[in-house]
Amino acid sequence: MKIGIVGCAGRMGRMLLKEVSASPETTLVGGIERPGSPATGTDLGLLIGSETIGIGVGDDAAELFAASDTVIDFTTPAATVTHAALAARHGSALIVGTTGMGPDHVAALERAAQKVPVVFAPNMSVGVTLLMALTERVAGLLKDDYDIEILEMHHRFKVDAPSGTALGLGKAAAAGRGIDLDEMATRVRDGLTGPREPGSIGFATLRGGDVVGDHTVIFAAEGERIELTHRASNRAVFAKGALRAALWTRDRAPGLYSMHDVLGL
Ligand code: NAD
Repeated sequence: MKIGIVGCAGRMGRMLLKEVSASPETTLVGGIERPGSPATGTDLGLLIGSETIGIGVGDDAAELFAASDTVIDFTTPAATVTHAALAARHGSALIVGTTGMGPDHVAALERAAQKVPVVFAPNMSVGVTLLMALTERVAGLLKDDYDIEILEMHHRFKVDAPSGTALGLGKAAAAGRGIDLDEMATRVRDGLTGPREPGSIGFATLRGGDVVGDHTVIFAAEGERIELTHRASNRAVFAKGALRAALWTRDRAPGLYSMHDVLGL
């Protein structure tokens, strides 16, 4: 499978370059960065600390999509919207790991998914995908006298909060309970908040250091507490999941898919 990577000089982009280069099932056809990026022209091999491969960082997204069976995108919501339109135009599958996507951004993915397979997951790790499935199941089994709180911590450079994964876990918990997260979420608490709203799903966000991604879903009742935790210690888990998703798109019908679909959950 011919794979292209957008945002290839980013933290995740470099991980993806490593995974795709190492896989016997894929050929790396290129990587691009935002126009004006200082990385433009740098050999992709040098970007990941290995030998040159004779392909430099490009800035022509249309050219990359035209050459790729599947493109992997971990960039920004605005960039991902542009890439979704290019995927539809050039018939390439798209794997989206970008977080902080609002309804308009997701609508752009839905439009592209009418033409090509699009896998979108705020967390591509296999472990977190399982945590989501477990969260939905536990929330469905427990009555609403178990308060649900979701705690997440990420590195100091993360720009969106709560993390896309935390919101995904909130959605999973809400689905298990048969409620709408948008109506029941308490995303921030500050000052004189009053008591906890019954049945709500609370979020707490920590930022600092180089934490790759910790998520805990807490089910707290009077007298006991259940905590489901996932800790990512290496970003490679997200890149490995994205590569698995990319390979899964081979001969797949157009549609908007999640990592649950990729793992067959
Ligand atoms: P980063 O800032 O290190 O990398 C993003 C890269 O995208 C940068 O190099 C930037 O120049 C590039 N970019 C921006 N606009 C572009 C454009 N128009 N064309 C091409 N390249 C463009 O960030 P990061 O830590 O690698 O994270 C990127 C995104 O992935 C974030 O939204 C992050 O939250 C998300 N993320 C998702 C997962 C997951 O499993 N789904 C895991 C980790 C990070």
